[in-house]
Amino acid sequence: MTIPYDLIVKNARLAGSGEKKDIGIKEGKIAGIGMPPGSASTRTFDAEGRLLTAPFVEAHVHLDTALTAGNPVWNESGTLTEGIGIWASRKQALTREDVLDRAERTLRLLIGYGVLYLRTMVDIGDPKLTALKAILELKERYRDKLDMQVIAFPQDGIVSCPANAERMKEALKLGADGVSAVPHLERTREDGTRSLQIAFDMAKSGGAFVHVFCDETDDGSSRFLEVCASLAIETGLKGRAAAAHANAAAYYNEPYFRKIAALVKEAELSIVACPLINSVMQGRYDAYPKGRGITRIKEFRDAGVNVALAHDDILSPFYPLGTGNPLDAAHMAAHLAHMSGRAELSALLGMITEGGASAMNLGERYSGKDGDLRPGAPASFLLFDARDAQEMIRLRAAPRFVFRNGRIVAETSPVRTLLPAGNEVPLH
Ligand SMILES: [Zn+2]
Repeated sequence: MTIPYDLIVKNARLAGSGEKKDIGIKEGKIAGIGMPPGSASTRTFDAEGRLLTAPFVEAHVHLDTALTAGNPVWNESGTLTEGIGIWASRKQALTREDVLDRAERTLRLLIGYGVLYLRTMVDIGDPKLTALKAILELKERYRDKLDMQVIAFPQDGIVSCPANAERMKEALKLGADGVSAVPHLERTREDGTRSLQIAFDMAKSGGAFVHVFCDETDDGSSRFLEVCASLAIETGLKGRAAAAHANAAAYYNEPYFRKIAALVKEAELSIVACPLINSVMQGRYDAYPKGRGITRIKEFRDAGVNVALAHDDILSPFYPLGTGNPLDAAHMAAHLAHMSGRAELSALLGMITEGGASAMNLGERYSGKDGDLRPGAPASFLLFDARDAQEMIRLRAAPRFVFRNGRIVAETSPVRTLLPAGNEVPLH
C-alpha cells in the first residue's frame, strides 16, 4: 500500500538519535519518520544529510526595546541603571509605527535564525500602552509565521508604580498572555513580595502566565525566587510560571541553594537564564575576584529544574550587541556556566529548544521531543550544515532551512570568504 504524503524530506540526520531518516509530512504535521517502503509524495526535498533539529524557542526577548541602541543616546556606562534611565525617556517617544517597524525587523531576523516560538516582554509603563498594542497587532499578523506570547512587563515596578497594576490588567484584557514583576527593584523586600502576590493573583484570575524578572542582581540576599516558587504552588500556577535571570542564586550559600532548587522543582518553575545580557550587567560592582554573571544553570538542571536559555536584548539601551541568534546565548552559556563537555553542549541545545518550550508551556504545540521530532506534531524544524550540537554552537551559523508546518519560511546561504587570489577559504 502506498502512503501518501504532501512532502517527504529525504536524508535528514536527526540531532537526537543521529540517525538519517526521511520525514513524511501531511497537512503541515509530521506524519512519518523513517518511511516504510512504498511511501509516496508528489513533492520531495533532499536535506542532503543535514542535521535536523527541533525549532528554536526564544523564551525571553524584548521586541519593544529592540533596535533602539544609540537612539537617542548610547548607554556609555553599560550599567542597568543607565539603561533603565535611557529607556524611561525613549519610551515617551514611542509611536505605533516606530514599534511596528523595529519589532517586525527583529521578528524577521529571529525567524531567519530558526526561532519559531517566542515570548516577548513589553513594557506597559506607557499610559496609552502604545508598544503593547503594536506588538499584539504584530502577533496577529505573524500568526502563520511563528507562535508568540506577549508578557505585560512593569519595568518601573508594581508597588512603586501602582498604575502599572491597572495597566497589566488592561493588557490581559487586550490579549496579553501573561504578566510580570521586578521584585528586586521595588523599594523594600516587603514591596517585592507584595508585587509578586499581585502578579500571581492577576495571572490566576486571568488564566495567564507569570514571567518574573527575578533577582537580577549580584545581591545574594535577594531571595524572591523562593517567593515565586511558593506562590506558584499556592496559586495553582505550577508549570505556568517562569523566573528569568535569577542571578542572585549564584551567590546563595549551599544549604540555602539546595533548599531553593528543590522548591523550584516542586513548583515546576522554569528558570530562564539570559547569559548575554547578564555577562555584561552582572559583576559590575564586584571587586576582584568577580562573579561570572550567570545563574546556576548546571546545578538547577542537575536538581531536575527546567532551564531555558534566552537571547534577551537585541541592540537596546541595555545591550548594544545581540544578533537574535539563540546559538549566541548557548555559546555564552557554555563559557559562563562551565558547560563545555560534549554532553553538556547537547544539553545547552536542549535549553534553546525543549527547555524554552517548557518555559513557555507550549505542550503539544511544540514539535520536538528528546532532541528529535514527535510524530503528529507540527512539521516545524531546522536543517543545519553542522555535524552535531557542538558544531552548531561553535559555528553559530543560521540554519540553512527553516520549516514551519511543512513549508520553508526562511533560507540562509552559507557564507563564503575569498582570499585575494580568488581561492575560497574554508573557515571551518
Ligand atoms: Zn530581558
